[in-house]
Parts: sequence; C-alpha cells; structure tokens
Amino acid sequence: MQRLDQQFIDNQWVRSQGERRLSVINPYSEETIAEVTAGDAADVEAAVAAARRALPVWRAMSGAERAGYLDGFADVLTRRRDELMRLSSTNNGKVLAEAGIDLDDAIACYRYYAGQARALDARQGQPVDLEMEGVEARCYHDPVGVVGLITPWNFPLVTSAWKLAPALAAGCTVVLKPSEVTPLPEQVLAEMALEVGLPAGVFNLLFGDGEGIGAPLSAHPGVDKVSFTGSNRVGEAVMHAAAEGSRGVSLELGGKSPILVMEDADPEQAADWVMAGIYFNAGQICSATSRLLVHKAVAAPLYAALAERIDALTLGDPLAEGTDMGPLTSARQREAVRHYLRIADQERLDVVRDDRHRQLPGHGYFLAPTLYRDVPLESRLWREEIFGPVLCGRSISSEQEAIELANDSDFGLAATVVSGDAERAKRIGRQLQAGSIWFNSEQLVLPETGWGGFKRSGIGRELGPWGLSAYLEVKHIVGPETAEG
Ligand code: NAD
Repeated sequence: MQRLDQQFIDNQWVRSQGERRLSVINPYSEETIAEVTAGDAADVEAAVAAARRALPVWRAMSGAERAGYLDGFADVLTRRRDELMRLSSTNNGKVLAEAGIDLDDAIACYRYYAGQARALDARQGQPVDLEMEGVEARCYHDPVGVVGLITPWNFPLVTSAWKLAPALAAGCTVVLKPSEVTPLPEQVLAEMALEVGLPAGVFNLLFGDGEGIGAPLSAHPGVDKVSFTGSNRVGEAVMHAAAEGSRGVSLELGGKSPILVMEDADPEQAADWVMAGIYFNAGQICSATSRLLVHKAVAAPLYAALAERIDALTLGDPLAEGTDMGPLTSARQREAVRHYLRIADQERLDVVRDDRHRQLPGHGYFLAPTLYRDVPLESRLWREEIFGPVLCGRSISSEQEAIELANDSDFGLAATVVSGDAERAKRIGRQLQAGSIWFNSEQLVLPETGWGGFKRSGIGRELGPWGLSAYLEVKHIVGPETAEG
C-alpha cells in the first residue's frame, strides 16, 4: 500500500508535519489503496515560504520562458497518458474512456496556456488611447503573487490543470491542495515539475484535507489569492478566510443546470445528449444538466428513449472494456445522493428508472442511473445540487416557459438547448443565465472558452484569456509623453 506522507515543497519531498492519516479508497473494490497525510498548518507555512522565495525569479522571467515549462508539462502528461488514465480511474471510479478525455483536457490546457504565456509578452506595455494630449499611458500585466489552489475529486488532473497552467503562465508561484479523496493522480504534478526543471518553490503540492491544509492555506496572509473549486459551503468558508487581509478569490462552485428539449427536436438524438449531460462521470459533474425541461409534444418519446438508454448502460469495473458507468467516487458521496433518493420517495416522485429497475454489481459504491418525471418545482431534488446520476424532468408548453424555468435556479453554471432549428437554439441560449451554453451537442469543454458561473455557481472565470486574467493584476504607468512614446 502506498503511503503519501510526504509533501512536495521547494522541489523536495519532505515529511508532512501532520500526524493524522486518511485512507484513499478504490471505489470499485472498496479497498484501501493508499494512506495520505491529512496535512498540517506547518506544511502550509513551509510551502508558502518556498513559494514567496521563488516569486521574484519566476515573475521576472518572460512569458515565453515560462511557456517552455508548460509545454514540458503537456509533454510529460502525453507520454504518461495511459498510466495516468488507469490511476485516475482506479482512484476516482470513472470509466477508462472518460479518464482519457480528462487527460486530453489537461494536456490541451497546459498547451493553451503555454500559448497564452507567450502572447502575454506582446501585451506588456501596450499604449492606451487617451483623450488628453501630452500624456502617455501604458498597460502592464503583473502576476498576482503567491496563489493557493484548492481542487475537488471529480476530475483529477483537470481541475488542477485549469488553475495551475494559467497561474504559472501569469508568473504566479503556487501552493496546490488537491482533494484528499483523489490524491494519487495529482502526485504526477510534482514529478512533472522535477522533470521539466521548474525552479524550486514555484510549484508546491500539499496533500491533506480541509482542516489540515485547506483552511490554513486560505487563511495564510502570505497567500495573495485563493482559487477554489468545490462545494458552495466550503467556497464560502474560503471567501470568509480570504476576507481577512482583503485577499482575492476565484470560486468555481455548484450547479443545477438545465437541458431544454424543444418540440422541434428529434427525441432520439436529444436522448443521447441528455444522457451524456447527466450520467457521464456517474453524474458527478458540476455542469451536469440535472434538470430536464422537455416540451410536452416530445415528452413521451423522449422518456421512452431515455429509459431504453438507461437500461442499456453497463455498470461495473471502470477499468473493463464495455463499462459505461463506474461507481460513485466515495461511500460518502453515495450516501449524500441516497439521502436525496429517500427524499424523492417521501415526496412520491414519479419514477421512470431507479434501482428497482436493475441489479447493481456486488461491490463498489454504485448507484442506479435514476430518472424522475414531472418533478414539482418545490421539490428539493429539483432545486438542489445532487451530484450523482439523478435526472429530474418536467414538461413545458412554450419556449418562454422553458426559459423562465431554466433561469429559476440559485445556480447558473451551464445549460444545453436542443432544437431542430439551430438559430432558435442559439437565440434561447442568449436568454439563459449561465456561463456555458451548448446547443445541439454534448458538453464541449474547450480551453479557449471561459468556464464559470452566474449567481451562486461562482465568482470569476477559468479557461480562455479570462482564466489567465484571474492570476494577473493590471497596472498602468502614466505620465508626460516621452520621446519613445
Ligand atoms: P468540497 O467543497 O467538499 O471540497 C473541495 C476542496 O476543498 C477539497 O480539496 C477539500 O479538501 C477542500 N476543503 C474542505 N474544507 C475546506 C476548508 N474549510 N477550507 C479550504 N478548503 C477546504 O467539494 P467536493 O466534494 O470535493 O467536490 C464537489 C463539489 O465541487 C460540488 O459541489 C461541485 O459542484 C463542485 N465542483 C464545481 C466545479 C466547477 O467548475 N464549478 C467543478 C468541479 C466540482
């Protein structure tokens, strides 16, 4: 059994000061596959000190120089793709093909921000158009400083890439805390740092839980900004901690995203996109389209097509070929979802498919893909993020009603619109309050387009140029016009 009792600080593996140990579980076998330190505030102290020492050298490098390291990261991930897919699948429970999608996403992210780092050099010192004569102003982009990055367990190597790549591209130095549930794949980040020769202290990796590492990291005065992905409850705690010292936060939080299927949609085609939006990663997706708004004219054929597809899903060993859905990532997450299924029973929701319709594998944290129809608006299952393979449907009678109900949520992370008329789908998309809207497609996540939420789904954006801006301070140098202009 692997023991992760070391932290990666200043390019060295050093023993964690934390005494507590946590089990890392394979969610399919339910066996303990590793033990990880819960971390300690003293680890945070050492890592932040290392990141602060490394900052002057790293921030002084050109974007092009930093880009070289990011390309190196992408090269290492590309070379180790297969091995990391298996590790991610074993630790998280996602099927191998989905782990491959994750790896490709992470690789594309490091490559994209290598390009953004190079482009940053050309953006430095750009003149600003001014009304006032005889005055010059130039704009510069400086790194925010030392940043704390905290990530969840649902997309190992992806949520960390979305933060680490732009932070390094911007010239920030980093202390990253991955989820204690899925620490195994994230170890490779330290190995990559050593392999590409990243200067010591630029990247520090701390294993641990919220108490051991997350809270002291968010509260540390030497951390200039915290970028957090996870639950609303913890995101708010991070924001409170960062308020001390008026430090910045970026937050990627929960969702309760809708998928709208209009009366001119092909129900068979729509069913494929509905399935992908909720049962991918066993529903543990922040952008899961967990609220189905289907026009009453196509509701019957759509539910029939969904039931057929749900029945055809193979649940089992995530590493085995032919498995469509693995277990949930932890016993705790399965219990959290079961809690909602009990509420659904109490609320007497209309079940199309649940665990009464299938035999689950003998071990592993499995849950049957579940579908309810005609879910009341006041149901907790309609309003709250479940974070599991549970889809709630409702029929709508008009485009206006679909838009109103889609926007009737505390969250606003994503949405999908399915219509036979692409122009109509895009027009509806313009009226939805969410950061990512897909039309007539599955969820295409691209490094060039921004990611983040309206309303309670978060603060700020990741990916695209916005993801880089999150780690940059804008600076203007203004004075009397000089000969160089
Ligand atoms: P979580 O909030 O429990 O944990 C997230 C991270 O925060 C973990 O690393 C955890 O150890 C750490 N943490 C816990 N307590 C802390 C504290 N007091 N201070 C600082 N850090 C602390 O979330 P989770 O269960 O790992 O992930 C599921 C949630 O993440 C869902 O709500 C999901 O919607 C959200 N999520 C959002 C996005 C997005 O892009 N918007 C992406 C993935 C997941």
